[in-house]
Amino acid sequence: MNNNIELYIQALDSANCGIIITDNTQPDNPIVYCNRAFETITGYSHDEIIGHNCRFLQGQDRSQPERSYIKKCISEGRDCKIEIRNYKKNGNLFWNELYVSPVKNSEGVVTHFIGVQNDITERKKAEHELREEKSSVERKIQERTKELVDSEAFLSSIVQTVRESLLVLDADYKVLSANTHFLNSFKVTTEDTVGKVLFELGNHQWDIETLRELLMKILPTNNPVIDYEVEHDFPHIGKKVMLLNAYRIEFEGQYKDRILIAIEDITEKKELDRRKDDFLSIASHELKTPLTTIKGLVQLLQRMIPKDSPERFNETLDKVSVYVDRLNVLISDLLDTSKIQSGNIELHVDPFEIDKTIRDTVENLSVSAPNHKISLSGSTNAVILGDELQISQVINNLISNAIKYSPGSDKVDVYINRVGSFVKVSVTDYGMGISSQDKAKIFDRFFRARDIQKKFPGLGIGLYISHEIIANHNGTLWVESEVGEGSTFSFTLPIMKNH
Ligand code: ADP
Repeated sequence: MNNNIELYIQALDSANCGIIITDNTQPDNPIVYCNRAFETITGYSHDEIIGHNCRFLQGQDRSQPERSYIKKCISEGRDCKIEIRNYKKNGNLFWNELYVSPVKNSEGVVTHFIGVQNDITERKKAEHELREEKSSVERKIQERTKELVDSEAFLSSIVQTVRESLLVLDADYKVLSANTHFLNSFKVTTEDTVGKVLFELGNHQWDIETLRELLMKILPTNNPVIDYEVEHDFPHIGKKVMLLNAYRIEFEGQYKDRILIAIEDITEKKELDRRKDDFLSIASHELKTPLTTIKGLVQLLQRMIPKDSPERFNETLDKVSVYVDRLNVLISDLLDTSKIQSGNIELHVDPFEIDKTIRDTVENLSVSAPNHKISLSGSTNAVILGDELQISQVINNLISNAIKYSPGSDKVDVYINRVGSFVKVSVTDYGMGISSQDKAKIFDRFFRARDIQKKFPGLGIGLYISHEIIANHNGTLWVESEVGEGSTFSFTLPIMKNH
């Protein structure tokens, strides 16, 4: 038996958890046994432990609710398990996971308690960190959700406020949302619109073959639809011209394959443009008629000059003739512009030798701009089928611009050569050059670079007309330029034959 006890004690001493036995028959339930692990965990020696009530481990930390629970279990002679804060001899806190079980005698009286304890400080710390981590993640999610809700509210308030009709479609072209401007403009309700396929909206008014094709390409190719004009007689609002822009949209990876369509009503703008064009055409016609008469009268006067008229009289009459010609060119340009706009420009097509046309034009200009050296090089021996007058007007225009926009230089180079089945004509100046933003616009009607507006006279239509003339002849006109270094305007024309 004694041997057995020795064995048991050895077994208890080699356990990792602290084990104590208290004697409940003695006052204040003192500890009568503790194993080695209990000493290791608490830092107290065997002698400092035996005889004490377990509460010494709690130090001053007396108000833990677990204490009253354990007290209650002990008084009722029940098993219990608690996690309680205890303190080592050196004062360091450790979390004690404590099992207490009563030992009863044959009469059922509790004579002893056995306490088994584990230091679970590390586990508690890990649990604590996990809880902290979890709550910080939750906090972040809450913040992020709030941000998303805020930004969505922000976006939707923009979408609702813009003075342009906006629709969002899903991949099947079903309307997911329509903003107020859309509903008001087309006099429809949300119910009429949301959830319906775009092409079926309001009597299939958007069911337009080319629009369908463009929209179908957006999602697979990501190619937006830009400035697509739709003219349609809409049921509630009448005939309208709409400008459509459509893009594929993605929202922070939450969804893709949605299409945003912006619809701008340009009916009034178109109408204003039309009136402006009408005005230009009428005004230039009206101006042209008396001017032709004036020109004729000046020519008559020039023929009627008396032999003995003073030199000043002749000079003045010549000047009048020059200015009448200039005015004539300006008005003709305006007239051409309105003709191009309405598609009424006439081409008097005949074969002509381009080298000669260019040579003649350069010669004429050299006479009227004696301070500039216009040098012509290259040749093509090509015959072009087209309107010689118009082509000469283009060359005239390019060389005049080259002179006008190079105040600090007196050199213009004209170069002509063959490129495949085309002739290529280039006019190079060493003047002010054109910025890259302006480059995109100089062939537009009435465009003039901002900084030159006041310094040089002009209407901003010469290049527009030239561009259209070359396009009508199946060629292209383009520019290469560096600000401060100069510009080269080039155009091509298809060759008809050699001469
Ligand atoms: P205009 O000369 O009457 O203004 P154009 O249509 O001929 O009209 O030219 C449009 C604009 O392009 C000019 O106002 C000028 O800003 C720019 N531009 C044309 N040619 C040149 C050039 N050779 N160098 C620099 N800028 C030019």
